[in-house]
Amino acid sequence: MPLGETDKIVTLFAREYGKFNIIAKGARRTTSRLAGATEPLMLLKALLAEGMNLDVLTQCDIKESFPAIRADFGLYLRATYCCELLDRMSIERDPDIETFDLLLSTLYILQRAADSDAVVHSFELKLMGLAGYAPMMDACPRCDQMFDTVTGQDSGIIEAAYSPMRGGALCRECAMATREEVMAISPDAATWMRRLAVEDNARAMAEIVLPQPIADQLNRSLRSHLRLRLERDVKSTAFLDAYRVGAMENLSDPLPPDAR
Ligand SMILES: [Zn+2]
Repeated sequence: MPLGETDKIVTLFAREYGKFNIIAKGARRTTSRLAGATEPLMLLKALLAEGMNLDVLTQCDIKESFPAIRADFGLYLRATYCCELLDRMSIERDPDIETFDLLLSTLYILQRAADSDAVVHSFELKLMGLAGYAPMMDACPRCDQMFDTVTGQDSGIIEAAYSPMRGGALCRECAMATREEVMAISPDAATWMRRLAVEDNARAMAEIVLPQPIADQLNRSLRSHLRLRLERDVKSTAFLDAYRVGAMENLSDPLPPDAR
């Protein structure tokens, strides 16, 4: 965020300290050494001085600038969305090394991903898991019957629909019986969701390509899951959606407000 004539307020997410805002003095002058370093998506080693309200960035080294993400606007939007989601789901000064490492590995994987949306969905699922509200995919949240997650359909208990309100996949019987809003989800899509939530091999993750119908189902169900739990949409999702369907010109500003 701009501050005064030439300064910036920058949100850092530090491995040791969690999320907090700092002031970068003069960082909006193009000649400032801090200008490039305080762009979004920079991995920094930073030295801070204690300030009156916010700490002040005095010195920093850029450790990684994710050039492949910066060179590709679609990747840039996806990476920015991940940062915004993390910003929305974290509280200030709450150290969280697992979440830091998740974001960092996600940014590295995005740079060489065969399917960047699969990487984003995996990030969403893992982040929700760390925050304690991952979608429930092993048992029906309405009747508690366990799904057979190996074959997906032993004993006739197969997932048929996703209920955003209950935060999980309903069994076929409950999906037919309930009056709440449900979204179609195939056993295949549920299996993908389980895999993306736990896949921790970076190379395997980078090679995943979701079939289009699965990608659509995951996109819809995860979006409503997040919307209900965060109580509103994440701002950059509108930009990401528009980019996916090639309708960026319909939006007034090509970058999410937080990324400017
Ligand atoms: Zn059920």
